[in-house]
Amino acid sequence: MPDHSNARRLFLAGGALGLGAVLTAGRSAADPSKEIPAGPTGRPDPQLEEAPPLAPAQRVGWAVVGLGHYAQAYVLPALARSRRSRTVALVSGNPEKARGVAARHGVSERALYGYDTMERLADNPDVAVVYIVTPNASHPELTVKAFEAGKHVICEKPMANSAAECQRMIDAARAADRRLMIAYRAHWEPHNLRAKQMFDAGDLGAVWFASSDHHRPLDPSRPRDQWRVKRAVAGGGSLVDIGIYALNGLQWFFGESPNAVAATMQAPPGDPRFAEVENVFTAELAFPSGRRATISSGYTADKKRIDLWGDRLVATLDPATAYQGNRLVVANAKKAEEVLTQETSAAQFTGELDHFSQVVAEGGAVRTPGEMGLRDMRLIEALYRAARERRWLDLNPDMTLRGT
Ligand code: NDP
Repeated sequence: MPDHSNARRLFLAGGALGLGAVLTAGRSAADPSKEIPAGPTGRPDPQLEEAPPLAPAQRVGWAVVGLGHYAQAYVLPALARSRRSRTVALVSGNPEKARGVAARHGVSERALYGYDTMERLADNPDVAVVYIVTPNASHPELTVKAFEAGKHVICEKPMANSAAECQRMIDAARAADRRLMIAYRAHWEPHNLRAKQMFDAGDLGAVWFASSDHHRPLDPSRPRDQWRVKRAVAGGGSLVDIGIYALNGLQWFFGESPNAVAATMQAPPGDPRFAEVENVFTAELAFPSGRRATISSGYTADKKRIDLWGDRLVATLDPATAYQGNRLVVANAKKAEEVLTQETSAAQFTGELDHFSQVVAEGGAVRTPGEMGLRDMRLIEALYRAARERRWLDLNPDMTLRGT
């Protein structure tokens, strides 16, 4: 534990001076800055904006499963920057790559596992959390294995490729009496959080409409996009990969889920990228409150935005869900103002990871639980069906189809 005794002594000394003396500090003879000698000296604990990071031994141990692009570019560096979490094990189908990653992140070679040896995680008490960062089709099987090893699980989006698989993962969590979280990082992204705060406070006025558009180019020359063109592995195209941010985000802002949906999808003929999965997906969402929203996703353009159309202000997150450089602008016909101009997007990764570590260590509710992933997958299934059948579909509150 950090020693705050110096800080406490300073506080008590300041208190004894009385409020006036404290307020005039800087000019007062009792100003502690006057006591600073010219040479090197110890000083009281600084006042930190947030609690200091936990000592390594007190942090929750994480095993990262699948050492691909997202895991190496964002997850592992964020675990290293986190305050409550640390990487203690890796699971990979490529032992040579795993050894290199382990060396870079200070993970013991004894804590390297393959997909076929994951059950041995049960014998590693350092691992409390298993983070599944593999292609979508493998999420259920690996999640169930991790629960069977007695670990808590955080799983990447989309949770799985069907609602039935999502339910299997939730059931496995219950059977193991462990926690399940879906890695919807935008719930910790400062610009998204500020927009949600403004929405809830009524700063935007009445918001009857929102739109969200999530697009990024699909490039199969990159290994990470090679499985994304395969329906059996990816589960779908742009909708499941990035349109899911639009669906999840709009339900979060509105605090409700749609009760009717219509949709269309498109795959340009002759483009081998879209032989099995869709390029553009569009949907109209109607909500029980009477609100309406449109979403689009696509695999050719490059932009990810959310617009909340209030009658006082329109809040625009653009980009809304990028890894860095997210922005929030509130505007009406007369003025536009950028909110949160500091670059803070990186906080989404550490915030997300440390949230789960805190829940695992101390209890409390998971902000983005497995049930949220299941809800979103049911909605995605309804949207694909609405697009195929070219008609509006009514939904129950749990996102199952009404009347079928
Ligand atoms: P990559 O292809 O870069 O990495 C996937 C890794 O999974 C591979 O490197 C491999 O790791 C392992 N793997 C296991 N089985 C397979 C298989 N059959 N085919 C390919 N790889 C396999 O993908 P991403 O990192 O982009 O995506 C991984 C997951 O993370 C997906 O679910 C995706 O939706 C999600 N994601 C989430 C993001 C977010 O912002 N939250 C951003 C990007 C992705 P190894 O060689 O170590 O076994």
